[in-house]
Amino acid sequence: MTLFPEVLETFLSSSILGRAVKNGCFTYACHNIRDYSESKHKNVDDTPYGGGCGMLMAAPPILRCFEAVLRSHPAGEKRRVIYLSPRGKHLTQTLAEELATCDSLILLCGHYEGVDQRALDLMAAEEISIGDFVLTGGELPACALIDAVARLLPGVLAEPDCYRDESIASGLLEYPQYTRPPVVEGCKVPDVLLSGDHKMIDAWRLAQSLALTEERRPDLYEAYLALHPAPPPKKAKKMCRTPKEREE
Ligand code: SAM
Repeated sequence: MTLFPEVLETFLSSSILGRAVKNGCFTYACHNIRDYSESKHKNVDDTPYGGGCGMLMAAPPILRCFEAVLRSHPAGEKRRVIYLSPRGKHLTQTLAEELATCDSLILLCGHYEGVDQRALDLMAAEEISIGDFVLTGGELPACALIDAVARLLPGVLAEPDCYRDESIASGLLEYPQYTRPPVVEGCKVPDVLLSGDHKMIDAWRLAQSLALTEERRPDLYEAYLALHPAPPPKKAKKMCRTPKEREE
């Protein structure tokens, strides 16, 4: 449910998600809230009661749109109604995994200064934020949420188990990755990755992941150590310096 369906349609018809939709891995329908305005000029917003800056999306067109969306879904399916909002709980990999078990998600994208609270209450919408910053609209957050959820669905990724090795899902940040050519501006691919010794490669990757996570996300690092009390492997050394680091 959005005032700017073209934003979502462009995103959802591109790249991996576009292919996944074509292959029937998931379906979506964008509903333009403006189509549910009953005013002559198709207005959807108004000034806030009590004053304050900006305009608010009015409740009636949103609620009529919501009714239409509900009518297009079979009763009894497991669904969640979500308002993308900077006030919401943060979107995390765990939350994305939870949402991926639903039959459907109904997403409301706000705009302007937000949405009349009664629309949210009557829809019983939960609020989800994509981070502690404020965007002009909920369309990009909706795209981010759909992307995070859709790539967990069967058939969307070419190698379905890949995501478990990735940053966050594995509990750690991902180790550095390299592809051809073997040397770029004097930076070599670490020898171990060319060794063919998969035990050593796994150990190297874990050491790199641990070092990066400790440096950048001490919260994740502590949580990982609590779950994996075995002594961490040797500290990894940084493989290649950036041009700026080389100058220093
Ligand atoms: N006045 C609102 C507030 O202070 O919470 C912010 C409104 S924001 C300018 C307009 C819309 O963008 C919101 O209704 C919401 O749908 C969306 N939005 C902005 N930042 C967001 C974020 N970090 N996560 C999710 N949605 C966001």
